[in-house]
Amino acid sequence: MAIKNKKEDEKISLLLEDLSTLEGYVHDLFSFSPLPICFVSPIGVILEANPAFEKISNFRADEIIGEPIERLFQKDQIKELTRDTLERGFVEGKEMTFFPKEKGKAVVQAFTRTRRDEKGKAVGYFLGLFDLTKIKKTEEELKKAQVALLNMLEDTEEARRKSEEERSKTLAIITNFTDGLLLFDKERKLVMMNPQAENFLRVKSKKIIGKSVLELSKFKNIKGLVDILGKEVKKVFRKEWEIEENFILEVSTVPLMTEGKETGTLVVLHDVSREKIIERLKTEFVSISAHQLRTPLSAIKWSLRMLLDGDLGEITEEQREYIEKTYKSNERMIALINSLLNVTRIEEGRFLYRPVLTRIDKITESVIEMLQGEAKRKQIDMRFKKEKGLPKVLVDTEKIKLVIQNLVDNAIKYTLPGGRIEIFLRRIKEGIEFSVKDTGVGIPKKQKERVFSKFFRGANVIRLETEGSGLGLFIAKNIVEAHGGKIWFKSKEGKGTTFYFTLPIKAEFEEFLEKF
Ligand code: ADP
Repeated sequence: MAIKNKKEDEKISLLLEDLSTLEGYVHDLFSFSPLPICFVSPIGVILEANPAFEKISNFRADEIIGEPIERLFQKDQIKELTRDTLERGFVEGKEMTFFPKEKGKAVVQAFTRTRRDEKGKAVGYFLGLFDLTKIKKTEEELKKAQVALLNMLEDTEEARRKSEEERSKTLAIITNFTDGLLLFDKERKLVMMNPQAENFLRVKSKKIIGKSVLELSKFKNIKGLVDILGKEVKKVFRKEWEIEENFILEVSTVPLMTEGKETGTLVVLHDVSREKIIERLKTEFVSISAHQLRTPLSAIKWSLRMLLDGDLGEITEEQREYIEKTYKSNERMIALINSLLNVTRIEEGRFLYRPVLTRIDKITESVIEMLQGEAKRKQIDMRFKKEKGLPKVLVDTEKIKLVIQNLVDNAIKYTLPGGRIEIFLRRIKEGIEFSVKDTGVGIPKKQKERVFSKFFRGANVIRLETEGSGLGLFIAKNIVEAHGGKIWFKSKEGKGTTFYFTLPIKAEFEEFLEKF
């Protein structure tokens, strides 16, 4: 019996040892667990809390043990949790609002498990928490990022929609534009043309899109355009192209730039047929009227001449004075009619040139001789200087005479009595330069650009010199340019003006001329 007791004692002590080892093990596990865990009595008092729970709640164990669990949660939520736990034995992952000490609030997930004694009576429950704050934060951030992304997508979509809208607007403008438009890319290939261009050129865009300028020249209707543009699609400004009789297009090019680089050329075809027809009719009208006027004016001229010459009987001094005035007025009218006729001839392309080898100094001298009387009458000192050995030039003598006459006549007209005029001829690299310098009224700065246009008369001369048609310089410019020369001037209002023009001597003539 004693032995038996001894054995049992040994067994009990071994069991007790095992139990305390197990308790230590459970305690270590409880303390070590990274999951915050506490043990709560059935009436809601905290009985135990592990270090992870201390950390999450920001309470020391001695502050929290013996306190109601309600302190740490929203009342309704914890009541519900306790009730469910005691009824069902556990709760899995209930989301709850948690109030750690002095740290505002956090969101946690709660896990519970009821503990019962040997009789099955609940002695409390374990409460484990899982901190959701970080996950929530990340979730919120994710949501924000998602919203931002959606916004960005929306913006991109909006931008895409806008650019699409712009594109269709531009396309609508191009399609409905009244001018013909052709777009060439950097490689000089046709990439686009609008319906109006198809209409003008009488060709379907399908047939020619993608073709180079050179290939386009094979198309009958486009050859003329290619001749104007050249194979490099050069810069063109308002060049007229008579595509067929009475159908005239004005061709201009516009370089297309993207970020400062040329990416192509836009060719604009503007229909000017109507304007041109009206212009032609106008020119024709002026031409016919001028011709009609010239005949009676010539008749008047000869009758007056006969009267002045006494062919129709003696006239008194007073009569002579009046007839002379009338004669002069008639002469001016004839000059005006002649100028008008010249202008119409220039415009109709009928101003023919008959070039002959001429000495320009001789023409100048004859003009000066003719106008010297008028200069003297105005007490203007008019002089002529020339370089020695000036070569002959191939010009239409009559036309060049008209130019020199107009320039010298202007110098006399627009110089006040007592002024000076110097006419100078010199050899320059490209040919001969004529200049006439005066000390006259000058040309207003603001009007300088219009000097060579038809009917231009300076604001400062209209009262000073009532006669003048404003046609002389227009004609002069056309004549000089038709000879391949240039005409220009320098002027200072109130100080004087110098008009220049050049006549080229072509290289092949040089050798020929040197033999003379
Ligand atoms: P017109 O002399 O018949 O008016 P032009 O065509 O010869 O016509 O000249 C046009 C205008 O240019 C003149 O009316 C005048 O205003 C200006 N002009 C031409 N030459 C001179 C000059 N030498 N000095 C000042 N103004 C001038």
